[in-house]
Amino acid sequence: MKKGLTITYDEYMLKFKGLIKSLGLNNSVQREYVLKILFDCDNHLSAEDIAKKVKDVHNINIGIATVYRILALLEELNIIKGISIDGFESKVYELNLTSHHDHMVCVECGKIVEFYDAEVEKIQELVAIENGFKLQSHNMMLYGICKDCQEHE
Ligand SMILES: [Zn+2]
Ligand SMILES: [Zn+2]
Repeated sequence: MKKGLTITYDEYMLKFKGLIKSLGLNNSVQREYVLKILFDCDNHLSAEDIAKKVKDVHNINIGIATVYRILALLEELNIIKGISIDGFESKVYELNLTSHHDHMVCVECGKIVEFYDAEVEKIQELVAIENGFKLQSHNMMLYGICKDCQEHE
């Protein structure tokens, strides 16, 4: 189970199915597999990662186009967040369950680290106000080389 979560998968699924029903959508086993992979995983996963994990865990092939379609719907419903990274072709995804955080990515190995800094958050608010903006959201991505990759240089 992803660290920091206070909800079990069963509780989560119950809520999710309620939402799907309220939208008049059909249940989809494939969609549930995708969610379960994201729920169980502590990393940020690409569509390819997810397809591979579904195959590993459930021994089922979901076509990559289907995975993309599922991810697009889940993102639209705000159930997951898609993160674009410069230099990487595919977006990575995470459940929209943990509290707000930003990301830094290693440009060598692609490792993604989450961070939260109250000071940085505050400064972004101030910068927005200084520019006459009412901040709604932000997406901060730091690029660098992680500790492991620095050691292997
Ligand atoms: Zn690295
Ligand atoms: Zn994250």
